[in-house]
Amino acid sequence: MVLKTTIQGFLTAVKGLLLTVRHLFAARKSRETIDIRDEKYFEKQEGVTTVQYPKEKMPIPEVGRYQLHVEIDDCIVCDLCAKACPVDCIAIESIKSPEAIGKTSDGSVKRLYAAQFDIDMAKCMYCGLCTVVCPTECITMTNQYDKSTSKLTDLIYGFTEMTTEEVAQRKEEWTRFQAEKEAAKKK
Ligand code: SF4
Ligand code: SF4
Repeated sequence: MVLKTTIQGFLTAVKGLLLTVRHLFAARKSRETIDIRDEKYFEKQEGVTTVQYPKEKMPIPEVGRYQLHVEIDDCIVCDLCAKACPVDCIAIESIKSPEAIGKTSDGSVKRLYAAQFDIDMAKCMYCGLCTVVCPTECITMTNQYDKSTSKLTDLIYGFTEMTTEEVAQRKEEWTRFQAEKEAAKKK
């Protein structure tokens, strides 16, 4: 009984040692940067497991969810993305226009100006819901992930192209239009 246990203990120690030696030799070469779509991805996980980032970067999947982008010319400022966001990290302010202001690339009519369109990527949890509900598909996840910064406010991305003066002018136009409409009703 004692002999059997001793032999078993010895074999276990040898097994563990062999595993350590195997990894020791494998660690002499750096790990290949393998694309996750490679059929042998899991079989090729050999070598030093750390990646020398930023000199070395792992390939990322096409459907990965990273930095958001808004093609503002195609946005109809419907606010659906902001409403769908579970963490309220999209801030939109719209200004109505008395008439249509143009069309998006898919032919949707634009009637609102985007006075503000900010996304706080520090709060974003990359769920992708905003991209799913967008009727014009103008808010998308890009493959950009290297956005580290030491200032948290740098992670608030603004997408509106309107200046403060333009915003004030459009607001004034809408107020005037409304006043004229009211006055016409009273006549
Ligand atoms: S990906 Fe999710 S959390 Fe991020 S802005 Fe879109 S809806 Fe909000
Ligand atoms: S859902 Fe799309 S069109 Fe609507 S405000 Fe958001 S980005 Fe613009």
